[in-house]
Amino acid sequence: MKGLVRCCSVTLQVIGSMGVVEKATTLLEQYPLCDHCLGRQFSILGHGLTNGERGTAIKRLLVLEGSKLLLEKDEAGKTLLRQVAVNGFSELSFATLQALGVEVELGETSCYLCGNAFTRLDGLSEKVVERLSSYEYNSFLVGVRAGDRVEDREDELRARFKVRWGESIRSDFSREIGKRVVKATGKEVAFKRPDILVTVNPFTENISLKVNSLFVYGRYRKLVRGIPQAKWICSQCGGSGCEKCQNTGKLYPESVEELISQPLLQATSGTDVKIHAAGREDIDARVLGSGRPFIIEVVNPVTRSVNLHLLEKEINSTSKGKVEVEQLEFTSKKRVRKLKAGEGAEKVYRAKVRFEESVSDEALSRLEETMEETVIRQKTPTRVMHRRAEKLRKRRILKLKVKRLNPTLIELLVHCEGGLYIKEFISGDGGRTSLSVSEVTSTPARCVELDVLKVYVEESN
Ligand SMILES: [Zn+2]
Ligand SMILES: [Zn+2]
Repeated sequence: MKGLVRCCSVTLQVIGSMGVVEKATTLLEQYPLCDHCLGRQFSILGHGLTNGERGTAIKRLLVLEGSKLLLEKDEAGKTLLRQVAVNGFSELSFATLQALGVEVELGETSCYLCGNAFTRLDGLSEKVVERLSSYEYNSFLVGVRAGDRVEDREDELRARFKVRWGESIRSDFSREIGKRVVKATGKEVAFKRPDILVTVNPFTENISLKVNSLFVYGRYRKLVRGIPQAKWICSQCGGSGCEKCQNTGKLYPESVEELISQPLLQATSGTDVKIHAAGREDIDARVLGSGRPFIIEVVNPVTRSVNLHLLEKEINSTSKGKVEVEQLEFTSKKRVRKLKAGEGAEKVYRAKVRFEESVSDEALSRLEETMEETVIRQKTPTRVMHRRAEKLRKRRILKLKVKRLNPTLIELLVHCEGGLYIKEFISGDGGRTSLSVSEVTSTPARCVELDVLKVYVEESN
């Protein structure tokens, strides 16, 4: 025990093998440390203690140790008590010295590591609670930005004194603030996907919030033609409004995106909204049957507890028979990736096909037979060539059924792999798509109406 209060004579090896009491003594000999910051150097020792409690316990033990040495007339006891009183801000040590009639000068000291920021934990946590109170949330996480200087200082101290049981000042702060926020709000801490991520700098007391998006999954049907899936920004003015778009900034007054997301945006008071869908249909195609899966993402939502049943009703009534949604449910960002991966999912289309001249029954049965389980090769369609690179696409037709409506008009049911350009599959696009309906029937054909009847996607949340 004697050597430990004379640090200079102690070799580094000895420091490395020191016990808790000796190490704490050595640290306090060099630096003023508050209970939290002393305790944090031993944070993996003992469960169910805060670092503050650890520090307090260690300092008390040092006071007992110092008193014992003094009783044995060992002057080292006085030195130890002085250090714990001055560098450890210990009132107990101070009172003990006073009781023994030893004079101690207490200077204005602040903790070498935290500058006494841990004494402001309660006030800081109240500020965090205050900031959070403008939002509705179930879970949160506190992240701490302490600044490099603070962390470097602790790293140096640990390297110098071979501290192996410590944790970072950042996790100490974030846990302590988190605990106080839980106590005040009853909300829970979530390490994965919290509703709100709070970043606190305990030194500047700067607090910033990152509110995570709210995701709502559903399926939509588009019951009318002529509405684009996403908002179509006017190409002439880029959205600022011009004569061409009648100052709306968009080419179409409505979109599926706007019709289904506006009521949700209003209900959540978010700042923005995005739609993620499993593929997209042409403006002139309807989406019927079980509909197309989508996820709406609300950015910065203030409210999260939306009644989805009522929302569904509202969307369906404000969309006035143009768009219908169903199966709304809350979901996560993870599912957006799944949904997008499902762009290549199998689909069933219904198309009305007009032939330039009447087509024989024999040609129509040939069409059904030839197309079943057939791979169609498509060069980038002429109509999208201006915005898509030239590429060869191969997509399989799984099944095709023909129903005659009159000598030149038929209805096709096409079950195919996702990504097939269906209009070109019918017309042949001047030979760029092969096989095609025109090619197999030897009669020029074109698609006059197109509906998406089914989009096959994995249904797990
Ligand atoms: Zn401190
Ligand atoms: Zn415009």
